[in-house]
Amino acid sequence: MVKKEEILDILNKYDKDITIATLGSHTALHILKGAKLEGFSTLCITVKGRDIPYKRFGVADKFLYVDNFKDIAKEEVQEKLREMNSIIIPHGSFIAYCGLDNIENNFLVPMFGNRKILRWEAERNLEGKLLKEANLRIPKRFKPEEIDRTVIVKFPGARGGRGYFIANSKEDYYKKINLLKEKGLIDDKDAENAHIEEYVVGTNFCLHFFYSPLKDEVELLGIDRRYESNIDGLVRIPAKDQLDIDISASYVITGNIPVVIRESLLPEVFNMGDKLVEAAKKIVPPGIIGPFCLQTLCTENLELIVFEMSARIDGGTNSFMNGSPYSFLYSGEPLSMGQRIAREIKLALKLNRLEEIIS
Ligand code: AMP
Ligand code: AMP
Repeated sequence: MVKKEEILDILNKYDKDITIATLGSHTALHILKGAKLEGFSTLCITVKGRDIPYKRFGVADKFLYVDNFKDIAKEEVQEKLREMNSIIIPHGSFIAYCGLDNIENNFLVPMFGNRKILRWEAERNLEGKLLKEANLRIPKRFKPEEIDRTVIVKFPGARGGRGYFIANSKEDYYKKINLLKEKGLIDDKDAENAHIEEYVVGTNFCLHFFYSPLKDEVELLGIDRRYESNIDGLVRIPAKDQLDIDISASYVITGNIPVVIRESLLPEVFNMGDKLVEAAKKIVPPGIIGPFCLQTLCTENLELIVFEMSARIDGGTNSFMNGSPYSFLYSGEPLSMGQRIAREIKLALKLNRLEEIIS
């Protein structure tokens, strides 16, 4: 694991002109825009062709080109980042391309947040442990033989909903697994590691929180729901025709839609955010720092069931780049998650407490 002292050493060598840097993908637009609004210089790490949005929207002061996104883990790239006094904001794509092993052991660039916690959201068994420790409601899990209701089946690494399927019985499960194997889409090992959980019938609320260690406070900054293909298209076909065409549903994230939740559910929403922060402090100290997300389904009994979490900025924060109804309530101005991160860094610099929010 990268040592905190090494990172603090690097930070001490930085002059006061910090650059906020991230990989040009995922949530980079509002991370960079937010940093600019708070007066930071911004850097977008990119490859030829993927720089377009960051150029056209003018959110990056500087670009660092790599041949391949995976090259961000290379020593020479780290060197350049340090030369520019960079603080990296890790997001879903940054983690995917840099790789958890590199982030934990080789990536010697100061990073906003607790880099140790990233594995806890990436690996399903660790994620489950954290959610249980927080005493949050999660979908019931099944072994194939135990399936007695509608379940959703997920495969390791198949993030973003690709390859998920629904099964209604043990027989249905094996039929679909065998079909996937025949098509070469999964192998025996994938099948063994399939994660089977209760299909929760409910409405989707992805709750975007920010925990400020400086203020010791959990803020609710926005809520989105997912827009997924092909399921969100499939449901526009009348049921009779759905049966005729025999397409199976998939849950690939293609976009996000801002949403607000019934106001009487907000006490529970805050309670859930607080509980996760407390649990993370206990089992992955210093815990969650900055943005995190609980992906929930709300049942007709108004129970919020958590089927996934992000212990870093989640893609759904793109639904409030110009602020959300909730982030507006705090400051009376349109505040994005990206700007909230930059504000925390700015405050930490002012209070000389940067070491509390960096790893
Ligand atoms: P990308 O940078 O678009 O390749 O995304 C990397 C991963 O981040 C995807 O596999 C998704 O799981 C997740 N992701 C990207 N965009 C979003 C989004 N708008 N909402 C939720 N998750 C997202
Ligand atoms: P995930 O990759 O876990 O974020 O899931 C992708 C999508 O699959 C979600 O946005 C939901 O639409 C759906 N999904 C995942 N888990 C469940 C569940 N337990 N019950 C119902 N739908 C789910």
